[in-house]
Order: sequence, then C-alpha cells, then structure tokens
Amino acid sequence: MESHRTVIGVLDLQGAVREHIAVLERLGVDVRRVRLPQELEELDGLIIPGGESTTVGKLMERYGLDVAIQRRAGEGMAVFGTCMGMIVMAQRIEGSDQQRLGLMDICVRRNAFGRQVDSFEADIDIPSLGEDPVPAVFIRAPIVLDAGPDVSVLGEWDGMPVAVRQERFLGAAFHPELTDDTRIHNLFVQMASEDRR
Ligand code: GLN
Repeated sequence: MESHRTVIGVLDLQGAVREHIAVLERLGVDVRRVRLPQELEELDGLIIPGGESTTVGKLMERYGLDVAIQRRAGEGMAVFGTCMGMIVMAQRIEGSDQQRLGLMDICVRRNAFGRQVDSFEADIDIPSLGEDPVPAVFIRAPIVLDAGPDVSVLGEWDGMPVAVRQERFLGAAFHPELTDDTRIHNLFVQMASEDRR
C-alpha cells in the first residue's frame, strides 16, 4: 500500500507563516499555505499562527474559512494554534465577543502579561515531550484562565497553563516556530497522522 505523507496546512492570513512552514519542512511533512476554504480539504492538520486575533477572526469570517475550519475539524482534521491561533481556538475570550472558532473548551485572556512585558523568553517544562524544558518565546501572549475536563495542560509558566491539548486540538500561548526546538511541531504532526479518516 502506498503510504500517505502527512499533509499540514498553515493558515496564511497574517503572522509568522514562513517560520511554521520552515519547521514543518524540516520534519518532512507535505506543507500547504491555506487562504481559501477549499484548500482545507486534503489536510490532516492545520496550524493557525500568531498575529492579531480580531483581524484574523474577521478575515476568516469574510472568506468563509471559519465555518470550513469548523467543519473539517469536526471531520477529524487536527488543529494547532500558537498565540493568536490559540485565542481563536478558544470557546471563551475574557471580556470580548470577537469572532472565534471555539474549538477548545478553554477561556483565554489576551495580552495577559501587560504592556511592561511585551515579549520575553522562558523555559517551559512539558513533561510529555521529555525532560529537557522547551524554550518558549512569548509575544503579547495570552494565558489560559480555565480549561474544561477534556483539556490536558501540557505545560505551565508561573502556574498558568500555556500549552494545552484537547483530543486533536493543540494550543500554545507562545511561539514554538521561533526556536530550533521542533518537539511541539513533531507532537502535532503525530496527532495529525493518527487515525486519519
Ligand atoms: N496579542 C495578540 C492578540 O491578542 C496575539 C499576539 C500573538 O499572536 N503574538 O490577538
């Protein structure tokens, strides 16, 4: 039987698209840029990069990408949101009624570290990825305020969840694509390859 190479799309509306593509290419997957709903059809997984969540929420709605992503996610497509991507995956966004996909049973707070700490780097323990901490770059990052019973917290910073998983959905408050550590992307590629439908 011919083996199927895992196909991962990167939502290409705004943000750190190229960096995600570079990591995925290093991992040997078939990478696609996604701007139109029909480009979701063949994907095993979709990455939603960082950027500005209100802008991307509006653009997704305008192009019909929101309903298309929700439908494909319901059919088993894996989704990984980094920073803004995790915000738009959340069901609840503190103090905001902005557009969202609502894929994960989490409540997030945007720009949670305030203006003083616009961006910073930290080492995050993610025990499921091994003993070595994962280097994490936070840029105007959100945090997860609460998570439902089906959500596992993979990693925390200062006691707050910053990496979460719910079945085939993965969220990170930081930017793993800006470091050389490919373990989180590798986890996502594995999630996207499991029980492919
Ligand atoms: N602060 C942005 C927002 O709330 C997210 C920042 C990022 O993705 N780096 O939409």
